[in-house]
Amino acid sequence: MSKKPIYVTQPALPPLQEFIPYLEEIWESRILTNNGPFHQKLEAALCQYLQVNNLALFTNGTVALVTALQALRITGEVITTPYSFVATSHSLLWNNLKPVFVDIEAHTLNLDPARIEEAITPNTTAIMPVHCYGNPCDVEGIKRLADIYGLKVIYDAAHAFAVQYKGKSLLNWGDLSVLSLHATKVFNTFEGGAIVCPDKAMKERLGYLKNFGFADEVTVTAPGINGKMSEMNAALGLLQLKHIDAMLAKRKEIEARYRSRLAGIEGVTMMPLREDTERNASYFPIFIGKGYPIGRDALFQTMREKDIYARRYFYPLISSMPMYRGLPSADPKRLPIAVQASQEVLCLPIYPDLSHDDVDRVCDMIIACSK
Ligand SMILES: *Cc1c(COP(=O)(O)O)cnc(C)c1O
Repeated sequence: MSKKPIYVTQPALPPLQEFIPYLEEIWESRILTNNGPFHQKLEAALCQYLQVNNLALFTNGTVALVTALQALRITGEVITTPYSFVATSHSLLWNNLKPVFVDIEAHTLNLDPARIEEAITPNTTAIMPVHCYGNPCDVEGIKRLADIYGLKVIYDAAHAFAVQYKGKSLLNWGDLSVLSLHATKVFNTFEGGAIVCPDKAMKERLGYLKNFGFADEVTVTAPGINGKMSEMNAALGLLQLKHIDAMLAKRKEIEARYRSRLAGIEGVTMMPLREDTERNASYFPIFIGKGYPIGRDALFQTMREKDIYARRYFYPLISSMPMYRGLPSADPKRLPIAVQASQEVLCLPIYPDLSHDDVDRVCDMIIACSK
């Protein structure tokens, strides 16, 4: 009897019947995009759910990152992490900015403030950290540096939907925080993105920039892009939001099961649990170190042969890709912690509908290979 493949993620979807009334409303109104009623409702609902003051929806997270940099008029060099999804650095290249890679902290896999400080030059204008796997960056340390050196901070918060840090939304840190609402993320609108911003003036500016630069019918303020979210995506988001708490709870159950079943296996480590953080269990990374009998890639391959599709997020490092590897800061000798993490990491399947039996299948495999 063949078993179903287990993928690293499977998008959460509400029952289809629940979506039909939303579609009927769109068909009736003939308002398909351009800040329509569902778009406005989703922005308001997300502000409330995420406990943030202002939020601008986008067509995807990457266009939101590109636009965030434009809205703050960032120039010159931006300090960022090599241990992320490529879109983080690509958003800098799309703005003709120079990425400066610095190494990460071993316990959070996020940018290390001490190394950020060493990399600051007269051309540095901003820092773009990532809350990797939804683990908060050292936001206090990064803010201190930004204040001292007069730098802007744009958080790539693509993994950090609904994460609470010290009892408050993590998304209020930095000048801007950028979310991805892509199908593979904790909360999805098929494709989508958002920028969390502190004030109305910035939200208005983001509104121009995502609509070709139009401030009104006849005034174009900037060479803006088309970054608008459609009514269909926004309506889906409103429906998804009704189910999000249940989805997050299921993810946390799966995470707890992995943690208990994989504890104490020689050579397998997990991210430390943090008391200051209410997590979203968006990813479940494990690290295959020296004490494990086979290497990470051998385990990855063995799992594939049994139809378990874990993923090596983040391998290869962004800094090793052709468009980045020529930069002086991309030298792997300067990035030892990021290099090691990318060689050892394996993100295990986690999504709300993953059954406990399937979690056990994954764990049994890892345990079997450890002997
Ligand atoms: C998913 C992701 C993005 C890109 O978001 P899209 O909505 O797919 O464009 C950017 N950064 C990180 C860290 C991501 O995981």
